[in-house]
Order: sequence, then C-alpha cells, then structure tokens
Amino acid sequence: LTRLYGPLTALSNVRVDVMSALVSFDRVFEVLDLRPSIEEKPDAVPVPRGNGRVELRDVRFRYPSGADVSLASLEEVATLDRTISEPVLRGVSFTAEPGQMVALVGPSGAGKSTLSMLIPRVYDVSDGQVLVGGVDVRDATLASLRDEIGVVTQDSHLFHESIRENLRYAKPEATDDELWTALAGAQIADLVRSLPDGLDTTVGERGYRFSGGEKQRIAIARLLLKAPSIVILDEATAHLDSESEAAVQRALSVALAGRTALVIAHRLSTVRDADQILVLDGGRIVERGRHDELVAVGGLYAELYRTQFAVADSPAPYTDATGPE
Ligand code: ATP
Repeated sequence: LTRLYGPLTALSNVRVDVMSALVSFDRVFEVLDLRPSIEEKPDAVPVPRGNGRVELRDVRFRYPSGADVSLASLEEVATLDRTISEPVLRGVSFTAEPGQMVALVGPSGAGKSTLSMLIPRVYDVSDGQVLVGGVDVRDATLASLRDEIGVVTQDSHLFHESIRENLRYAKPEATDDELWTALAGAQIADLVRSLPDGLDTTVGERGYRFSGGEKQRIAIARLLLKAPSIVILDEATAHLDSESEAAVQRALSVALAGRTALVIAHRLSTVRDADQILVLDGGRIVERGRHDELVAVGGLYAELYRTQFAVADSPAPYTDATGPE
C-alpha cells in the first residue's frame, strides 16, 4: 500500500486520485477504506454475486467537507471547502437492469463522474439510496460490493512491474492460462506474445512503454480477469489512432457483454447502442430515452449530439505513448 501513497498524494486533483485508485487496481479500495465516512456496518450483508442490477432512488449528493478528503493537500482542501455548499446531484432516480448499457451524457460539471462514484461507494449519498443487486450499498460488505464492480477509465495506471504482476492485481491467483485468455479477449495477446519477455516484460520507462490504447486494453484484460457483473466505463475523449481505437472497441464489446454497464459516453456508437441514455444537467436527469427518441425531442441531447458526438467520432489520428504513472 505504501507505494500507492506516492502517486496518489502527488496528483493534483482529488477526483483523479479517487478514480485512478479505482482503476489502478481494486486493492486500492483499501485507500478508500481510510476515508472516515465509508464504514462497513457490523451486520453488513454481501451483495448477491452476479446480479448486476443497479438502482438509484432520489439520490441527492453534496461533496463532504474537506476533512474527508484524506489524501488531499491543504491547498486542495481549501479549494474544495469553497465548493461544498452546492448540491451536485439533486434527486436522481434510474434503474439499470442486469446486462443493460446505460449511457450518461451531459455538459461538463453535470455530475456524471460523481454519480458513477456513488455506485462503488466511493462516497455515500447525502439523501436517497443506491442499490446494487437490490442491496443498499451502505448495508453491503465492502468486499462483496467491490467484487461486483469493475472500473475502466481513460487513464489506466500500470505499475513499473511485469505485465503478469500488473494483471494479477485483478485476480491474484490467476494462472498464466487465465492471463492469456484475458489478454486475448482484450485484443492485446498478440502484442504481449511478440515481446521478448512475454508476460515477464517490465512495464514503464525502463521497460515496455504501452501506448494509450494499449494501456486501455490492459485495463480491459484486468476487468475480464475480475469478471464483475457491473462495469463503470469512462470513455476516452482523446483520440487514439484508428487501429488502436478499433481494437479498444472490440475489447470493450467483449468486456461489456452480459454485464451491466454505466458508461460516461463520448462516442456516438455508444449512445446509439445504449439501452437508456440519461441526460444530466445541473445534477438532474433532464431527459432519458434511446438515441432516436431523444434526437426527435430536439432538446439538450439533440444539441449535445450535434456538438459533441458527431465531432467525437470524426477521425483525428493521434497516438500517445506514456509509461506508468
Ligand atoms: P465532466 O464531464 O467535466 O467530467 P461531470 O459531469 O462528470 O463533468 P462531475 O465531475 O461529477 O461532473 O462534477 C459535478 C460537480 O461537482 C462540479 O461542479 C464539480 O466542480 C464538483 N466536484 C467534483 N468533484 C468534487 C470534489 N471532490 N469536491 C467538491 N466538488 C467536486
């Protein structure tokens, strides 16, 4: 755990800390356990394994006072303190049925990331309820809740260790066969096999430097190893080169199949495929439905569709090559 503190405290943004902690590997949930507000009840019950239903009932949320943000620097706490009085979610209700894909869209600051953090109980609601598999997350054992939820965001963290170790954070007892199966599902087995040291290849500055799209696929391989029933996905806003993009999309379609997915959507193909699109604005769901229905309504979604999604899928070749953070 100590090696996490370096990267976590060094980051300048608390939100990024928390989300990257979720992504990096699930044992980083331990860091969250240090947060005083998130406690397991003595009579906590396990979330039913593999259920995958997510329900929010009239959820309201304000960020807690700076004191709760245990990893923040004093400067960050001061900044956060100025923002705590504003409610960020103002009565959000929806149900994601098992296996459904729910797309969250809305302008910057609408509350999309905040909403996604309430499901794995990074924060507790100020009012209302979050249920996973029918259990209020505040009544659930933290381990069972976190086993059910996998998170993939655009900046997946890899450690300066072997690919095998990086993958095993998702499933410590995984055999090499299982690792290869996950890598194949994530569309990155061929690349790893082509490296002279295969699974023993060290990742990072003095080792193999994965591109952005490759790192995302490693994150997807971790997800496949973990096999959660619920996936929270923050789609990349940055463009990958088209080959990497296509591979990430194939990997995601494998990874999301049969799982409930909550996607902070930036891609047109995602919103078109979504079973439900929730349009958030100012902490409320202002429109909901499927793509064609919402386009026909001619409201905020139609506008976002014109300005964000049409643009988001236009080709803009770009590759980044970054090491572990
Ligand atoms: P974006 O698309 O820009 O990521 P978003 O829809 O995901 O935006 P959130 O990141 O959930 O929106 O932010 C909603 C509101 O909550 C914003 O006003 C933001 O400034 C505020 N906020 C986010 N994180 C924190 C925090 N840790 N402490 C206090 N306020 C926060």
